[in-house]
Amino acid sequence: MKIKTAIIGLTACSGCQVQFLNIEALPEILDVLDITYFPLAKGKNSDGPFDLTLIEGCTSTPEQIDEIKKMREKTKTLVALGTCACFGGVNAMKNFYSQEKIEEEVYGGTKLLYKSIEASPISNHVKVDFCVPGCPFDKEGFLDALKRVVMDKKPPKIYHNVCAECKLNERGCLLEKKKFCMGPVVMGGCSALCPRHGYPCQGCRGPSEDAKVETIDAFLKILEDHGIPKEEIPRKFMKYAGVIEPFRRIIYERY
Ligand code: SF4
Ligand code: SF4
Repeated sequence: MKIKTAIIGLTACSGCQVQFLNIEALPEILDVLDITYFPLAKGKNSDGPFDLTLIEGCTSTPEQIDEIKKMREKTKTLVALGTCACFGGVNAMKNFYSQEKIEEEVYGGTKLLYKSIEASPISNHVKVDFCVPGCPFDKEGFLDALKRVVMDKKPPKIYHNVCAECKLNERGCLLEKKKFCMGPVVMGGCSALCPRHGYPCQGCRGPSEDAKVETIDAFLKILEDHGIPKEEIPRKFMKYAGVIEPFRRIIYERY
């Protein structure tokens, strides 16, 4: 019997829903999943119940919080798909500024037609069974999560940071070139995708397991020693997972 599946999008760019449609193994996935609710891609959608619900995006309106609570009641397994759903993502940068300033910057004089509240990861409101981070989510990570759902297994735990994977690539450290790389405090699992191509890690997979306040303090010292401008630091910490501890506390307490 196929797995009855819903795919919904909250506050996000829809990139993770498109990423799902772009998975090379989609035909094989559709042999396993019966996608009965997917408003982005289907005209007719069922009300559930579902075996599996994939949620893209963070919550930033009261209606979205109600929506995911209802979804949680109707689904056996719930997956946060992508960085916005797992950690708030770039949307949650708005939490660090006043609502008035954000509205003025983004909409100018146009009045917002709906109530916008703090952007938050979906785990702030409902139980999340699997988190598949990445902006957009990592396809391999998703396929691994899907296999585990099918086999009724638990999510994997990633204990190492991006640096650990970067070292395996033997390309040298970008910090030595005075580039602000978040690798030391960010969760691995992407095979150090960005540093592998010469770009500093931006932190899209959220804090690593060992990214405690003391570790981050040591990292801040390294950044200082490598001449990274102080004003860049809070911006980079808040970019993808600024509302997740301990990044949040670092931003508020130090900057
Ligand atoms: S380039 Fe970035 S990820 Fe690679 S070792 Fe240096 S700090 Fe770590
Ligand atoms: S290197 Fe960093 S920014 Fe790039 S995919 Fe991995 S976690 Fe995300």
